[in-house]
Amino acid sequence: MSDELRVKFWGVRGSYPTPGAGTVKYGGNTASIEIRAGERTIILDAGTGIIPLGRELSQRASAQKRAIEIVLLFSHLHHDHTQGFPFFVPAYMPNARLHIFGPGGTPETLSHVLEHNQSSETFPVSLRDMASSKDIHSVRESQVIVWDEAGVRLAESAVGFSDEAVVIRIHKSFAHPGGVYVYRITWRGKSVVYATDTEGYVGTDRKLVAFARAADMLIHDAQYSEEHYRGQLAGFPSTQGYGHSTVTMACEMGAASEAGQLILFHYDPAYSDAMVAGMEASAKAQFGKAQAAYEGLEIALRAEKKITAMLQSSNINARDVKYAHND
Ligand SMILES: [Zn+2]
Ligand SMILES: [Zn+2]
Repeated sequence: MSDELRVKFWGVRGSYPTPGAGTVKYGGNTASIEIRAGERTIILDAGTGIIPLGRELSQRASAQKRAIEIVLLFSHLHHDHTQGFPFFVPAYMPNARLHIFGPGGTPETLSHVLEHNQSSETFPVSLRDMASSKDIHSVRESQVIVWDEAGVRLAESAVGFSDEAVVIRIHKSFAHPGGVYVYRITWRGKSVVYATDTEGYVGTDRKLVAFARAADMLIHDAQYSEEHYRGQLAGFPSTQGYGHSTVTMACEMGAASEAGQLILFHYDPAYSDAMVAGMEASAKAQFGKAQAAYEGLEIALRAEKKITAMLQSSNINARDVKYAHND
């Protein structure tokens, strides 16, 4: 088993896919990220980036003569986070098992939305007709998703699991229309926080700072340039209140939460590679351990035990301690 927690970016664009000569460097597929914790695969969101990921997963599984088992986490159910799922090859494989989690008012909300996305009026294959076995659950913020030797299940607390368990905690943010789930995935003492589709607050979002504290990697919404956000970019109206962040907001969150590294994510679809490169340079100037995600970027976090600095800090509260556990 690999000792590394590996993160690979398959789709990094926000809102809608943008193929073309102007987006070759960073890529045009919408949000999807693969996380590998040893032999386990966790996927964040099902934008169009999940389509090539699905092809690779099915090739990998057939080469290794193994059945596919994955956890798929939806941050929320806007189109750019779900539109790749009907084309996700493993969902059509009878021996594949998909554990799917996301937000929703009732445990069935997520399955209803996915069924609706593939109603006969809009798509030729229904969710039921996709041959894989699918466990689909809308989860609450207080629930914890655990994947260990006993399988994938929900728990009410992150306490008491071994370092070998993949432990996934949820923070519900209201900084996006309809709300969005931020996930913290921890395995063997390494943690990745996925905070897409969230707008920064003046003085930073303190609840998110606490949730994301001392993560080895913070993946953060960076949809807009400062000028665009403020309505000072020619041809682009102000986007304040749309539920997305600027590069500076992402950097502020990286610094306030003491992230090991900050990955910019979910770029505006109208932005060319040159514009994203400019945002990346701005981010590096503001927070040294920052870089812009691009399709194909793969980062390995070597798993090891560590004592988080925050546990030694004097001004922590009970909520922070809960979040720090197992990191
Ligand atoms: Zn989005
Ligand atoms: Zn959204």
